[in-house]
Amino acid sequence: MGNYVCYHLHSDFSLLDSTTDFKKYVDKAKEFNQTAIAFSEHGNIYNWISKKLYCDKVGIKYIHGCEVYLTEKLFPKIKDNYHTCLYARNMAGVKELNYLISKSTQEDHFYYKPRVSFDEFLSLSNNIISTSACLQSPLNRLSEENKYYTKLLNKYTFYEVQPHINSDEQKDFNKKLLKFSKKYNKQIIAGTDTHNLNTYKAECRKILQKAKKIHFKDDNSNFLEDKFDLTYKSYEELYRMFIDQKVLSEIEISTAIENTNILSNLCENITLDTSFKYPKLSDNDEKILQEIINKKYKEKLKSKIISGGEKYIKRIREEFSVFKKLNMQTYMLFMSNLICWCRDNDIPVGPSRGSVAGSLIAYILDITDVDPLVWNTVFSRFANENRQELGDIDIDLPPDQREQVYKHMFDEFGKEKVAYILAIGTISEKGTIDEIGRALEYDLDKVSKIKQEYDKNKEITKEKYKDFFYYFDGLVDTKISRSQHPAGIVVSPIELLGNYGIFYKDEYPIMQIDMDDIHEVGLNKFDLLGLVNISIIRDCCKNANIKYPRIYQIDFKDEKVWKDMLCSPVGVFQMESDMSFNLLKKYEPKSIDDVSLVNACIRPSGESYREKLIRREKNKNPSEIIDELLKDTYGWLLYQEQVIAFLQEICGFSGGHADNVRRACARKDKDRMEKELPQILDGYCKKSDKSKDIAEEEAKSFIKIIEDSSSYMFGKNHSIGYSLITYICAYLRYYYPGEFIAAYLNNSETMEDFQKGAEITKTKKISMEKQKFRKSTESYIYDKDTNTIYKGLESIKYINSSCAKDLYNIRFVEFDTFTDFCVYITENTSINTRQIKVLISLDFFEEFGKSKKLYDMYLYFCSRYSKAHIEKTKELRIKEIKEYENSLPDENLGLFEQIECEKEYCGYISFIRKCDKRFCYVLDVDLKYTPRISIYSLATGKTIECKIQKSMYLRNKIKKDDVVFCKNFSRKQNWKKTEIGFEKTEGFSIFLNDYIIYDKEKAVKVIK
Ligand SMILES: [Zn+2]
Ligand SMILES: [Zn+2]
Repeated sequence: MGNYVCYHLHSDFSLLDSTTDFKKYVDKAKEFNQTAIAFSEHGNIYNWISKKLYCDKVGIKYIHGCEVYLTEKLFPKIKDNYHTCLYARNMAGVKELNYLISKSTQEDHFYYKPRVSFDEFLSLSNNIISTSACLQSPLNRLSEENKYYTKLLNKYTFYEVQPHINSDEQKDFNKKLLKFSKKYNKQIIAGTDTHNLNTYKAECRKILQKAKKIHFKDDNSNFLEDKFDLTYKSYEELYRMFIDQKVLSEIEISTAIENTNILSNLCENITLDTSFKYPKLSDNDEKILQEIINKKYKEKLKSKIISGGEKYIKRIREEFSVFKKLNMQTYMLFMSNLICWCRDNDIPVGPSRGSVAGSLIAYILDITDVDPLVWNTVFSRFANENRQELGDIDIDLPPDQREQVYKHMFDEFGKEKVAYILAIGTISEKGTIDEIGRALEYDLDKVSKIKQEYDKNKEITKEKYKDFFYYFDGLVDTKISRSQHPAGIVVSPIELLGNYGIFYKDEYPIMQIDMDDIHEVGLNKFDLLGLVNISIIRDCCKNANIKYPRIYQIDFKDEKVWKDMLCSPVGVFQMESDMSFNLLKKYEPKSIDDVSLVNACIRPSGESYREKLIRREKNKNPSEIIDELLKDTYGWLLYQEQVIAFLQEICGFSGGHADNVRRACARKDKDRMEKELPQILDGYCKKSDKSKDIAEEEAKSFIKIIEDSSSYMFGKNHSIGYSLITYICAYLRYYYPGEFIAAYLNNSETMEDFQKGAEITKTKKISMEKQKFRKSTESYIYDKDTNTIYKGLESIKYINSSCAKDLYNIRFVEFDTFTDFCVYITENTSINTRQIKVLISLDFFEEFGKSKKLYDMYLYFCSRYSKAHIEKTKELRIKEIKEYENSLPDENLGLFEQIECEKEYCGYISFIRKCDKRFCYVLDVDLKYTPRISIYSLATGKTIECKIQKSMYLRNKIKKDDVVFCKNFSRKQNWKKTEIGFEKTEGFSIFLNDYIIYDKEKAVKVIK
């Protein structure tokens, strides 16, 4: 028997059309001793690099292919979408195919699917091989009369026959193709349109498609594909199927299968270029880098930002030689340009993220704000000459300014060479349960019950619902969606469309390969991460009218700041959770190292030593030498850099070698560790004054400690950079509390954030007021004179940013009457009448009078005054309106009107009236269990949640929007129903025991 090459093949990258991972197919091909494999995903080449690399690893030839969608013409858009399979004969073919696929996703091509026009297909070069594909082929669906039909017949390299036994349509199509093959002198080829590894995966595919409501039904509503066996075949199985189909003769069958080898032989085994691809800046990046380092070094020395001297010069030379060996000059220059551009354009960048804080050159170049000679960070953790890896510097930006930076990169390097990065979504365990539930038409309660049980005990639940979970393993982790990586962007020296393939989303390109593939081919990705704390610092500085601080400008020994840091966790980066803040308080930090230490032990894996470390309890290591090495962290091994120090300072390794051994250890690479062991022991013994046997034992037991903790050790370089942010937050919160909290509130997103913001204003004794004319602008603003934060207008319905700004801009203008104000607004701004009415009803203009008076006056004003009137008329009318204003009594809008306005425009009630504080407005009533009400005290503005005994409620029913006079409250222990009766639980409930309900009319009379 001969060889068969499966070339028409779909993995789960043909999203929702397969549940099989591509590796399973490659393994299968290997098992069948097949020599090559091609993937023909629907319209995409997602992660083709991974496929190629895996084929290389297994020892099978990878053929680059795709099943594209064809359309007769791109305009007008018609959903004809024919199928056709394309394969690359060589590297030029790969590029041609990638380019075509990239283009097919552009807006002018895309219609439900990425599409290629007949004309584009017909003009493909000889570097692309084509087969006519499945029943969706134009050769099957298109009329033979169509003007393209003969052209297409001439274009295809192979006519694809498929062996589906139960499909008459397929049999007819095969016959037709046989006929044409003779007439046009073309070869037939045996395709399978494989979608599943085996029948189990085929069942899972059906479940997935049922859950996603993808149906392939014929006119009699039978599942169309039930007639099709789309599982992976061996040569023998495929041969058998064609025999059973009884369309092709034996010789035709063997030829068709043999032709899969012809196809494979036509295709070269391509080689990937995996060299590092840093974006190119100039022809002499090294020289330019050198010059910039010199220039910036001198500048920093002159302005006393660095102390300079031999130490600095030596370190710069060392680092430079490493960058040169790693060919990283361009990269460092690129990062420096990028980050300086950000700073020049008022986009602040975090001091440092990740290991780059260890590089002095990065500091000199303003890539980081961390001077390694001041903060004792380690260079070899970032780069070393023994590790050929792409440079990787991530940066933190204000989330709302990230787009600006992406746009800059597109503008500077062009959309041919810059792209976002693919991310593929898979089904989670819970998601799998949902999908199966949907497919099997379980009701939602049942599915959520299964999920709950699954949470408690996976194995038991799987056993209990055996039929249900039958599909589980076949579905979990299946790729089902594609999106964009949240932070990464690629900048490449070579164009991306042809070399790798991209797809378009809203005109911006996204790579067809993901983060890992990008890494494999040596492309440089840049992670721009959004960090809201950078926005808070930025906005605080703006409010305080100071410059965004650089690290060298800040006093890190300020006792007052260290003390104040512990007054509240609000706004203090990394310390906002209860656990971290409690540890911080216990530890009482006095330095960045202290914050870094607290930070390092917060992570879940620090549990074993966390408490001891926070109590500053010393850990005993196998020897005094090691105790000494770890003395800054009380003998506990916290940082990766400490492992480097052990190998470098005690065992005599070079920095680069040390970091590589550390990595091998973290990877649990036994062979490598075995190889390194003699040198570690030798170095250690030389340092130790103990006998060789004892010293070796000590070293070995410490290596064990390193191995055990390597998975959770923290990077000190990173931790220092981040702890600096922690301190800056505390620093600004101490010196500019009002400005800081306003910035904090303006960057808040959740209700919890707003509550925390309100909480810290109390701690800091700052008042918080509702929106007010002359004080409020768009967002929260701090007024230094009154030490008050005023809410912003932006959140009010119908009020936009320009209206808010216009009002804020006239805050110093004097007005004798409200009429004068209205005239001014009408003449000089674009604020509309609805906006003024809304603001009047919210008491925004209370300095001119109460809301009802202003409202009535404004209605009159609008009826009498217009910008279009002539000057003379205006004068007369203003006089008349002022008289009207004076005649009006100073009154508020009615209680309920005001409540309605606040609810409508603000979404909450905040006004207060002078009245007995027992008067409350009912916000909500919940009768699900014991009646529960949410009430708003009209005198204090506080919201109270309370319960009412059911019997009492039934006697005197409270409704939403009632006003109640609450006579008596009490506190009661909470109870919980259990299997054996009732049980006390934590917490208390407030009960309203006695109350009077006021109807609207009566309430209005009592509360003015
Ligand atoms: Zn197809
Ligand atoms: Zn197909």
